[in-house]
Amino acid sequence: MRICTEKTLDGTTPRGALLTETKWAPGSTIKVSLNGSTLAIRNKVIQYAKEWEKYANIKFKFVTNDRTASIRVSFIEDGKSWSYLGTDVKYIPRDSATMQYGWFTSETDDSEFSRTVLHEFGHALGLIHEHQHPLNKIPWDKPAVYAYYAGYWTQAEVDSYLFAKENISQTNYSAYDPSSIMHYSVPEELTIGDYEVGWNTVLSPTDKSFIRTVYPFKK
Ligand SMILES: [Zn+2]
Repeated sequence: MRICTEKTLDGTTPRGALLTETKWAPGSTIKVSLNGSTLAIRNKVIQYAKEWEKYANIKFKFVTNDRTASIRVSFIEDGKSWSYLGTDVKYIPRDSATMQYGWFTSETDDSEFSRTVLHEFGHALGLIHEHQHPLNKIPWDKPAVYAYYAGYWTQAEVDSYLFAKENISQTNYSAYDPSSIMHYSVPEELTIGDYEVGWNTVLSPTDKSFIRTVYPFKK
């Protein structure tokens, strides 16, 4: 069981690939409890999370303060946003969050709600980080990356969150997609040679087509 955690907005914060064992049954309705924050911010989360429903045969049923919900969302302003993967939430105690947003305020832009909510709900559907795609060939400048994240992540955490590639046998994946919502931004100065990935704030064409193959609609 893993938790997927993101770096905060400052600097570089932070397709399709899915950890097969965490996949929900296609056609599932998943209850999501939004606990805390403001009505306006909760509504932004609902708005962007529902974007996935257009491409995946999954429905989210949103409630508040309901510990029977499968996905339980907290809004603690600690600069960290994260989510457990897919059905791994069943192992989490009912009084604990399974997804967290740490930087949403009344000043947050729509593009930032879009980027962060689509990404975390991607994890909630079982999607893993695209920059850890089994076939990615990101030419990381590892010493530069360790220095960049120093004070935020340990070297072991950088190894785990950025450099480690997913195991092909446990993963259902399509071609590596640098425009995936599940890809972190990769600035040029953290790579060797001429390579960078910008900020992805919407679902890519591959995100949409891949999730449809994972959670197909009935014909
Ligand atoms: Zn993530």
